Amino acid sequence: MGFVTSPKNPVVAIDGPAGSGKSTVARKVAEALGLPALDTGAMYRALTWAVLDEGIDPADAAAVTALAERLELDVGPPVLVGGRDVNDAIRTADVSAAVSVVAAVPEARVILVRAQREWIAVHSGGVVEGRDIGTVVAPDALLKIYLVASEEERARRRQEQDGATEASGDLDATKAAIRRRDAIDSGRAASPLAAAEDAVVLDTTGVSVEGVVEEVLRRYRAALEAAQRT
Ligand code: C5P
Repeated sequence: MGFVTSPKNPVVAIDGPAGSGKSTVARKVAEALGLPALDTGAMYRALTWAVLDEGIDPADAAAVTALAERLELDVGPPVLVGGRDVNDAIRTADVSAAVSVVAAVPEARVILVRAQREWIAVHSGGVVEGRDIGTVVAPDALLKIYLVASEEERARRRQEQDGATEASGDLDATKAAIRRRDAIDSGRAASPLAAAEDAVVLDTTGVSVEGVVEEVLRRYRAALEAAQRT
């Protein structure tokens, strides 16, 4: 349990834009460290799935917030909404197209961020992946990683990842969808996608998953040693 009893909040924050490799890297880092993992994107996706399921306009901030307040969300895995398994449903093209609009509603973010902090408290830390983990959700994280990759590579990865559940379309369409989502995520007023000042920015273009994971683990050990010295 050496890793878990770090002197600081043992959160590894992994942020970055769509297709930067966050999910895969976060899962493998969590496995290697024996820490639980939280995919906060899945929470915004689950809310978006419920918004669409109830026929709510994703841009209707009041309705989205009211739904977020009463949403019975289990982050799983598998992700459950009201006890229903929505693990695959939250990865469809419809949800991907609407999620950034839903995630831009500030009051809905407050509700989800509160749930994320509760998860961190209950699990005594963990590997938490998203867009605003290092900046807003866990500003005291032991290690903050911000993953980037070229647009070309991110689109290719997203197609591979979504292949099973999303009509993949062509690479240009995926690129356009990613660009649109990144623009909304980076441009929104409430906790926009951004690297924290103290984040380690890793460019994963052309780097294998194993290579990125190794680098994150190396940074983690260094951060842990540094924290134990203070
Ligand atoms: O990580 P993923 O691509 O599944 O995230 C889906 C969407 O959820 C993002 O494009 C973003 O709009 C939103 N999101 C967010 N804050 C987070 C995680 C995800 O706004 N911490």
